[in-house]
Order: sequence, then structure tokens, then C-alpha cells
Amino acid sequence: MYSYRPKPVQPIRQTTPHGQRTMFSLVFMVLSIMGILMGFRLFEPEVQPVIKIAPPPPTTTAPSLAPTVSVADNPLPTRDPFRPLVGVVAGHQGYDPGAVCPDGLTEADVNYRTAQEVVDLLERRGVQSVLLDEFDDRLDGFLADALISIHADSCMVPGASGFKVARATDSAIPDAEDRLVACLYQEYGDYTGLPEHLSSVTDNMTKYHAFREIDRMTPGAIIELGFLLDDRDLLENKPKILARGVAAGILCFLGK
Ligand SMILES: [Zn+2]
Repeated sequence: MYSYRPKPVQPIRQTTPHGQRTMFSLVFMVLSIMGILMGFRLFEPEVQPVIKIAPPPPTTTAPSLAPTVSVADNPLPTRDPFRPLVGVVAGHQGYDPGAVCPDGLTEADVNYRTAQEVVDLLERRGVQSVLLDEFDDRLDGFLADALISIHADSCMVPGASGFKVARATDSAIPDAEDRLVACLYQEYGDYTGLPEHLSSVTDNMTKYHAFREIDRMTPGAIIELGFLLDDRDLLENKPKILARGVAAGILCFLGK
């Protein structure tokens, strides 16, 4: 006898049994908690961030550390039809003392103080004025309405008193330079009361080096203010009077 006995149904095996799912959930939870904790640690700043502020870029208005510009380095002013330009050489300045008295008074000191006053007076009268050294680079091709070089005479000639003015012997503009010389004789004599000492005009004056350096069209003259011995009081103590005479001579020439 054959009796059918049905095969017992094998239970279908779960691919993800309940136990495995629980394990996975646990691991996931632990990992999540660890992640959250680590996340907090990560986001918790351990060190305050340093905010770097870049230094401001240097500006063009920053104070310059360049050394003080010396007189000889000043550029020449530009010529202006309404403001004549005059160069004033302080004789021997920047080179040597010139004539020297036994007690140490030097021609260069007298020349410089007078030249400074001349420049001041001319500027006040609307004339652009440049104070120049004896051997000044700016003399090369100097083009202006006039150039005057200021010197003084020896301290070793007793009995000599007076002043004199000269221009270049080989002048390219003799008429203009004769007028400049005449104006200086007239005005300087009037202001100082000094006599003209014509006999002592030398080649040093008529062949003066600056006459060859300046532009040929610049009227130039050289003045010897007086003698350091007999005219000493005036030369040493009254530079303003000397300067008024020189400045008046230049203004006379400029027609002012
Ligand atoms: Zn001199």
C-alpha cells in the first residue's frame, strides 16, 4: 500500500535573520553615536583662530627718509616772463675761504651772508633768485635775466678802500652787461657810500670762470664789495646794507 505522505515543508531561510539585523542596528547605532561624539569634538574649536591682518600697503604720502637736500642740489626754477630769474653766486662758497684776515674773518663768510640777503631782497621784490656756490653745477648753461657773483677784497692791503664791478671782456652781449655794471656801480655806491676802486679791477674779474660757464645770453657781472681790512666794519657787520646796494643794482638793470 502506498500512502502519500507530504514532505514536511522546509522553512524558508531568511536571508537576513532577525539576529543579524539586530546586530547591524546595534553596530550602526554605536557608529552613529561615535560619529556624533567625534563630530562634536571636531567642531569644537581647540584653538581660537588667529585673524591675520595684513599690514597696510605703503602709501605715497608716507614721510620720506631722504636726507635734507643741500642748497647746491636744489633745482633751478623755471623762467617766467612775469618773474625774472637771477643767479647770485656766494663767492668761494663750497670751495675755499677766499681772502682771510689774521683773526679768522673770511671773505667766504662775508660773501655768503651778503648773497643770502640779496636773494631775500630780490625774492621780496618778485624776482626769482637762486643762491649758487662758487663752483656750482647749475652754472653750466645757466640761462637767466642776470647773474651776479659776490666777492670781497684782500685783508692785507692797508689804506685800500672801495668796491668795483666788472663783466667779461669777451662779452656776447656787451650793451646789456655794461648796463648791469653801470647799475651796480650807481646803486651799490649810493647805498654803501664806498668809493669806486677802479685801479684794482683784475683779470680774475674780467676772465671770471662763471662767465664762461653760463649761457652767453645771460648778462653777468662780478662785484668786489670792499676791502676786508679798511672796509671791515661795513663788510663784517652790515651785510643788509651791502645787499640793498647789490639788489638795487640788479633791480635797476631789470627796470624795476
Ligand atoms: Zn674772492
